[in-house]
Amino acid sequence: MTANTHQHSQAHAAATDVSRFDAWVGGKSYQTEDSLETVDPVVDELITTVARCRENDINNAVEAAWKGYDDVWSEMEPAERSRMLFDWIDSLSEHVEELTLLECIDTGKPKSDARGEVEGAIDTLEYYASLCRSPVQDGRKVPAQTDLHMYTRYEPYGVVGQITPWNFPIWSAAWKLGPALAAGNATVLKPSVDAPLTTLRIAELSAGILPDGVLNVVPGTGSEAGNVLTKHEDVRKVSFTGSTAVGEKVMQSAASHIAPVTLELGGKSPFIVFPDANLEKVVDAAADGIYYSTGEICDAFSRAIVHEDIAEEFTDRFVAKAESYRLGDPLDPDTTMGPLTSQEQYETVKEYVEIATTEGATLAAGGRAPDDPELASGWYYEPTVFTDVDNEMRIAQEEVFGPVQTIQTFETYEEGIALANDTDYGLAAGIGTERTDLVHNAAADLEAGVVYVNEYGPILPEGPYTGFKNSGIGNDLGVEALDHYRQPKTVYVNLEDPSI
Ligand code: NAD
Repeated sequence: MTANTHQHSQAHAAATDVSRFDAWVGGKSYQTEDSLETVDPVVDELITTVARCRENDINNAVEAAWKGYDDVWSEMEPAERSRMLFDWIDSLSEHVEELTLLECIDTGKPKSDARGEVEGAIDTLEYYASLCRSPVQDGRKVPAQTDLHMYTRYEPYGVVGQITPWNFPIWSAAWKLGPALAAGNATVLKPSVDAPLTTLRIAELSAGILPDGVLNVVPGTGSEAGNVLTKHEDVRKVSFTGSTAVGEKVMQSAASHIAPVTLELGGKSPFIVFPDANLEKVVDAAADGIYYSTGEICDAFSRAIVHEDIAEEFTDRFVAKAESYRLGDPLDPDTTMGPLTSQEQYETVKEYVEIATTEGATLAAGGRAPDDPELASGWYYEPTVFTDVDNEMRIAQEEVFGPVQTIQTFETYEEGIALANDTDYGLAAGIGTERTDLVHNAAADLEAGVVYVNEYGPILPEGPYTGFKNSGIGNDLGVEALDHYRQPKTVYVNLEDPSI
């Protein structure tokens, strides 16, 4: 056993001292007939087994959620719900280190990134706990006619079904749970089988704080658990984060009982670099945008669209930056890039690199697993850069979900924007320039729900996170997310003839 794997084994023992993670239903641990396995991508070894929910288990969770909603949650004052959510958040805050280790081991992301994700999840939940009693929850008086008292009120759906991916498990769970609970719903959340541990743990940490049944977590596969949840006729709203291909299926399932959907889907986000850009900061931003979290990010800047006057210098700097990443054990503080999260993801990246090469793109960096024997047991892949990329190529159009960057060039503003927008996706876009006229024009012209100027990130709960085109429907985050978890009702009270 190498020093790395030894450190890992110890971390497993400390972080997952239970041999099995059960589901969480009706405010308590819930055992299923059999289980799934979640694997550590650093050493490709089992971390622990996880409950495998199937139809009957999903039905039980939905029933428990309705009971929690009808009996307790819907009867509570918003202030009381807010206090309970803050108590739960306090409990999560006391477990940041444990949750960080769990996330680190389950996803393979560097520990500092995992910590940032856990803290981001807590911050998101705090934001929504504070919105429980904010004026954004108020209906309004509508002064339409003098003989009419007309007003609106917001009502939760009741029980909502939520599905999350493996790349930011605890954070995406918080994006879903925060607004759903703050709007007054009970929820049944299905995490990804590849990284379910932190979501299960935060549910467990709600024990004795949130009323039984208000928060249920049902790990399982997409076909056995996810599909059952989305087509369940007692699930009144479906919110999904994941790939566009699965999002399409989720929409079809939800349509079977006319449940509204929120979809946060994939991306192929451009970073457009204008000739006046400060390359020192823009190269860092663009590289961070594709190599952070090993490129397993929905809004990764996977397409650098660079003005031809600076393309050579940009490419040289970008390649140098790509080659400067330190691949290693996510628990080592010097590591700046961990492994891909699974063998499946590794194979996908490898395949796309082969496709790009066959299509005629030029490999400028990476394109292989690292030589280091210390890394041989994990799913590591070197930061990769392709030049001479045509926008019709699959490498320019399809989401790789790994550390693979393409660099393309443009001449005029119109050409650059057209190239950036020439994709089915529309999640995020980056702009590199010091000119305010370019900033505002490009921010308006780029077809994307989130635009970053001279940086990559952050994502704060105060702002909506929206996918344009095939990147989604509706949004997570912001006060706007509350609207996806509540329905406006209009009340007309006849004030005519007040005589008695
Ligand atoms: P995925 O679509 O394979 O799976 C997402 C979730 O859906 C998992 O929990 C999975 O078990 C479940 N699922 C699979 N089949 C299902 C079905 N038929 N019915 C219901 N649920 C089903 O995605 P992934 O590989 O876990 O995550 C990566 C994808 O997620 C990428 O495309 C990425 O861009 C996207 N993503 C988007 C955002 C965003 O905010 N837009 C954020 C993170 C990830």
